[in-house]
Amino acid sequence: MARIQLITTGGTIASRPGGAKADVVAEMTGADLKASLHDSLEGIDLAIDDFCRVGSSAIDLPLAFSIAQRIRFHLARPDCDGVVVTHGTDTMEESAFLADLLIEGDKPVVFTGAQKSADAPDTDGPRNIAQSVRLAASPLARGLGALVCFEDEFHAARDVTKTHTSRTDTFRSGEHGKLGEVDGTDVILHRRPLIRRTYAPARIETEVELVKLGLGTGDKVIRYLAASGTKAIVIEGFGRGNCRPVVTEAIGEIVAGGVPVIMCSRCPEGRVKPIYGNGAGKDVERNGGVFAGDLTGVKARILTAVVLGLEDGPARLREEIAYHGG
Ligand code: ASP
Repeated sequence: MARIQLITTGGTIASRPGGAKADVVAEMTGADLKASLHDSLEGIDLAIDDFCRVGSSAIDLPLAFSIAQRIRFHLARPDCDGVVVTHGTDTMEESAFLADLLIEGDKPVVFTGAQKSADAPDTDGPRNIAQSVRLAASPLARGLGALVCFEDEFHAARDVTKTHTSRTDTFRSGEHGKLGEVDGTDVILHRRPLIRRTYAPARIETEVELVKLGLGTGDKVIRYLAASGTKAIVIEGFGRGNCRPVVTEAIGEIVAGGVPVIMCSRCPEGRVKPIYGNGAGKDVERNGGVFAGDLTGVKARILTAVVLGLEDGPARLREEIAYHGG
């Protein structure tokens, strides 16, 4: 009998319209979710931990860190073989990547949720939970790091992103693709993630901000952030990691002032690389900017928060980003 721990945090999967305004809100318990399953999950003992009940747009870095610690707590129990976390889809990729970076060992950790609220006749929640529990109970899921299981597929936390605001097949891993699928009671593994490294910080750095550039974006926002106590700034720049010369100049001053600046791309796929001069990527590198490979801005921010939580984090940041950026 596989012993799987379900940790609930809220999200659409636990939501239905309620209250005077009939807004859709997270209100269902783990027991409600378990009772909604159409799959009897034979051979699996499913225990419940109602951790919190919020939409994932309300989850901040400290709460995401607490969720990861809760997962660690359960995985450390000898009578727990794996964990499934129900979570809102909006920020699931970030909580999953944070767990991926913080959780050692081989026991499966699977995040899931739903795009259709629990009252919808075509809700995807119950089948996503059942598939995630089956995945967490499978020996094939061991050693893969934190996973996102949704709509018959599962993905590596590093690669996955929410791509569609409302469709149920929203989670994709871009050019890297899914790791595998859950077909009824069968788990099929296509590949294993090769980029994995974990950390054990006592805290994470929560003052890490993310700025996306648009055509013509200047240095105002990043200068403000640096001057107001931000400990690291992640920029989603253009293409290979470019920005306007005025931004490049500000990056030089911000880095010289002790605040790391990490450059990602606003392109959904591909790596950043310092190539262009005249105040673009090559000068960002000369000015001390750290290039983050093909990590998206939100993932680079999570990694930076974790590394800067380590005692020797500032000295290691460049190397750790180079490793995870691929
Ligand atoms: N707003 C919801 C959330 O992230 C969306 C969802 O769960 O799908 O909590």
